[in-house]
Amino acid sequence: MGPVCRGGRCAVIATERREIVIAGGGFAGSILARALHAEGRDLLLLERGRHPRFALGESSTPLANLALERLAVRYGLDDLWDLAAHGRWRRRLPEVGRGLKRGFCFYEHEPGEVFSPGPSSSRRLVVAASPDDDAADNQWLRADVDRFLFERARAEGVECREETAVEVISVPGDADGGPVRLRAGDRIVEADLLVDATGGSPLAASLGAGEASPRLRTNLVYSHFAGVEPFERAEGWPDSPFPERWSASHHLLEEGWMYQLRFDDGSVSAGFLLTGDPAGAAETVFASLLGRYPSLARQFADSRPLRPVVSRSGVAYRRDLAAGRGWLLLPHSFAFADPMFSTGIAWSLLAVERVVDLCRNGVPALGLLERYGSLLAAEADHIDRLLVAAYRFMPDMERFAAPAMVYFAAASFDELRQRLLDPPTEGWCWEGFLGTGDGRRRLFEELDERCVSAGVSGSLAEWVGPAIERWNLIGLLDPRRRNAYPVDLEDMEWRAVQVAAGLGLDAAELRRRWPRLRSPDHLSAALA
Ligand SMILES: Cc1cc2nc3c(=O)[nH]c(=O)nc-3n(C[C@H](O)[C@H](O)[C@H](O)COP(=O)(O)OP(=O)(O)OC[C@H]3O[C@@H](n4cnc5c(N)ncnc54)[C@H](O)[C@@H]3O)c2cc1C
Repeated sequence: MGPVCRGGRCAVIATERREIVIAGGGFAGSILARALHAEGRDLLLLERGRHPRFALGESSTPLANLALERLAVRYGLDDLWDLAAHGRWRRRLPEVGRGLKRGFCFYEHEPGEVFSPGPSSSRRLVVAASPDDDAADNQWLRADVDRFLFERARAEGVECREETAVEVISVPGDADGGPVRLRAGDRIVEADLLVDATGGSPLAASLGAGEASPRLRTNLVYSHFAGVEPFERAEGWPDSPFPERWSASHHLLEEGWMYQLRFDDGSVSAGFLLTGDPAGAAETVFASLLGRYPSLARQFADSRPLRPVVSRSGVAYRRDLAAGRGWLLLPHSFAFADPMFSTGIAWSLLAVERVVDLCRNGVPALGLLERYGSLLAAEADHIDRLLVAAYRFMPDMERFAAPAMVYFAAASFDELRQRLLDPPTEGWCWEGFLGTGDGRRRLFEELDERCVSAGVSGSLAEWVGPAIERWNLIGLLDPRRRNAYPVDLEDMEWRAVQVAAGLGLDAAELRRRWPRLRSPDHLSAALA
């Protein structure tokens, strides 16, 4: 028991004690809680709001699916296995809203002009992420997904509380040690470890993580809509590896870019990321941007918002520390730059795997927390380099292709490696997101340096092909593809055989393992 004072009034409140407190019941907090509970840890999951609640961060990727599959197998969380592929999700969890995502599409628009892919399809880039609908990624309807995962946590015996905002009372000093003291609703809780899964809330500041300057500064206007026409191929467009409506669609504009994510029920999540400061009400800004681009205006002509169109200024943020004595931040509490390449969900899940690993034998010592924090900082820098280059070259597709190719080479290389190879001793999760810990770190650094020196009209077209060659297993920049890259498993196998030694395999072994790309079932055996 102890006295707690607020607004000049003091009361004596009972103090609870837990090994681990997770603040924030988004998907990351809930999955982490379930895995830690499966490991026998004593914990509390606290959510400020009440599910279902709206959240952004909807477009998943193959690397996110791999992390979900590993978490499913390692901690016996079967539903995560189902969430990792569109077919499984649709069949086994039909009540949880989602959308088919076959890949990424990018379109370069000009104000006042109807969109055209241009000669040699130079204004359109299509990259498939899966060979068919069944194995495809998903757009997550976050209100549904987050509620589902939070309820699963509760059903499995995790102690969960909603409408319970966490505030920090004190963190242990270097000399005295001791627990983190928290106010959780009307109670006091002491924890050996606080995990901040609140996604960019002020909680991190009260733990001692100061604000750092993000490299990007953008503003966002967004909502969910009904009645949005698909941005389909018009007659005469080159072939596409999949129906483009089932993608994360990126429309590159003079003012920034627009995302469109379609759910299976026909609703669409759409928003503009803007480099300038838009004046006026969010709905007016949204409408006037549509008005400048005839192909987008046509798509939204008969649409209606399903919730108010709202704006958010200063989308990007960054903290100067990701962990300290008695606490750590999940990625979305530490840094966010931009949703351009859908990196958030995959990065968060990778960090969830790490935190469970760190806590397997109890609360980790400061040295381990610091290692976690350094890796997160390196990864945030790595992601920043990519996104800063993307913004510098937008909306010109020919120049924008350099950061895009760097991203797709790095991400597809990781996917292939994680599916084909046995996990390293510490597990894939400690390898560093998108190659932060290997030669791809230098690749991203060089992209960053060169995009600064290229200036306002320079191009990296000559540089990018040779630069990504070691990681380019999906035929990126092959002119025969005309900027539309399918998942061509035969072609990929041929390319992978050429670099088999770099993967630590001989060609025969690589061929033997190749069927793993089609079926993730080998994972169960590898992790058992
Ligand atoms: C505009 C935008 C678009 C994005 N698009 C994508 C995308 O397409 N793909 C992708 O992979 N990622 C995307 N992201 C990133 C993605 O949103 C995050 O990676 C993801 O939401 C992280 O999930 P989380 O559970 O860690 O945090 P959140 O989803 O932010 O959940 C945090 C939870 O904590 C709760 N909370 C807050 N404060 C407190 C408190 N004091 N006490 C208790 N609870 C609290 C909140 O109510 C919330 O439920 C996007 C991000 C933004 C900003």
